[in-house]
Amino acid sequence: MTVFESPEYSVANIIRCIGDNPLRPGLMETPDRVVSSWKELFAGYNDEPGKHLEKQFDVEVRDMPVFVNNIEFFSMCEHHMLPFFGTVDIAYMPAEKVVGLSKFARLVHGYARRLQVQERLTGLIHDAINEHVRCHGVGVRVRAKHFCMLARGVQSAQAHMTTMFASGCFETDPTRRQEWLAQLPRSDS
Ligand SMILES: [Zn+2]
Repeated sequence: MTVFESPEYSVANIIRCIGDNPLRPGLMETPDRVVSSWKELFAGYNDEPGKHLEKQFDVEVRDMPVFVNNIEFFSMCEHHMLPFFGTVDIAYMPAEKVVGLSKFARLVHGYARRLQVQERLTGLIHDAINEHVRCHGVGVRVRAKHFCMLARGVQSAQAHMTTMFASGCFETDPTRRQEWLAQLPRSDS
């Protein structure tokens, strides 16, 4: 790889396009810092998020839904390469096995640390749980603020977006669905 193909050189070029000078003292080390921060923000490309769900434990109590709320995440919207961030609320109804609490956070981060859109993030989290954990239903809600909406164009600082996807008992059983919806953190919290 020549210097002109390096990610650092590309970042220096972006600085030039913005209208600044990448060689001025304050910006000299910025390309290195941007590249290393992107390694962290986009670590999801080297992750197989579903694998985090493979370690499972036997269910001791039958017929009891599990709710894991307020998992914080940071992601980057693929339309503007600007951050969007918020929380994920997960519900599942175990059939035989349950998953350790921290694994859901790893799952969320594995999908969030990529160029992403909120709708797809919601579906990917749902599908991974549905595929890897034997259960009678899965519900996922994602609430996020999008920097591209906060700071550009209409500049609506309070607006946030909510996406929800549910299947199994959380979609078809009215009692379970109501139970799930009722225990979700309120939108203004
Ligand atoms: Zn955007």
